[in-house]
Amino acid sequence: MPELPEVEHLRRSLEPTLLRMCLGAVTIRRASVITLADEIVTRKASLLQRALLSESRIRATHRHGKQLAFESQDGRVLVVQLGMTGSVTFEQGPVPRGVLGRHRHVTWQLEDGSRMVFRDPRRFGGLTAYGSLAALRAAWSRLGPDALTIAPNRLFERVHSTARPIKTALLDQAVLAGVGNIYADESLFSARIHPCRPASSLTEAEVVSLARAIRLALRRAVTRGGSTLRDYRDALGRAGTASQDHAVYGRKGMPCKRCGGLLEGAQFHGRATVWCACCQDLSTSTARTRARPKSAT
Ligand SMILES: [Zn+2]
Repeated sequence: MPELPEVEHLRRSLEPTLLRMCLGAVTIRRASVITLADEIVTRKASLLQRALLSESRIRATHRHGKQLAFESQDGRVLVVQLGMTGSVTFEQGPVPRGVLGRHRHVTWQLEDGSRMVFRDPRRFGGLTAYGSLAALRAAWSRLGPDALTIAPNRLFERVHSTARPIKTALLDQAVLAGVGNIYADESLFSARIHPCRPASSLTEAEVVSLARAIRLALRRAVTRGGSTLRDYRDALGRAGTASQDHAVYGRKGMPCKRCGGLLEGAQFHGRATVWCACCQDLSTSTARTRARPKSAT
């Protein structure tokens, strides 16, 4: 499932082309992937085209958490959610055969004759049209702060009052926007925090360490083009290489890169979770939790 690094890398790979070329006609093959927000309430074909930024120039791209948005020069905004298998790619020439020729829900003609295509085989993603950037900002305000730039004090505010396990809190997009299963595990390992620790038991020093670990893990992955799991590709169809950097994700039973002990793994709230029992010791942390004064939790 694409997380923040994949979406940010996709945004950066789309932007050079999107900002210099006008979007032309839009072909909609599956209208059910489109949601019309705020004042746009009709599914009339001409308005649907307009909502999808047909015949417009893109002024800016935006991202918050795992959501990507295109803002047109007249103020309309289109949000792309990749879900599990969504992609936005540029292509030229004949429509590809095989798997790339299927699940092409929306296609935009570009002024140089090339195309931009939204595909999403499993359809957990989609496109949401907003009438203005203000409407989008209002929608995004319901998400937590963006994880790529999360400050320690903001993270502490978000997690110190919940007794949920810290991994569960990190995966909640209303707490922190953009962290998914991969980078939750990687950041917790880097900060030496067990994924099952109650979030409210983390000390301020641990939250500082965790915020730094989250930012570093995400920034490194953005520069590597994201982690290519399943069929993630950027706008030019390139796979990312960040998965080569993973210290724990996907490495259950393999040696910890820090201490050499074997990494443990289990399903945790339905998500595969991997950690090092030596470097991320739950029992020691629990003892420290009990010793903390109540006012600090
Ligand atoms: Zn270890």
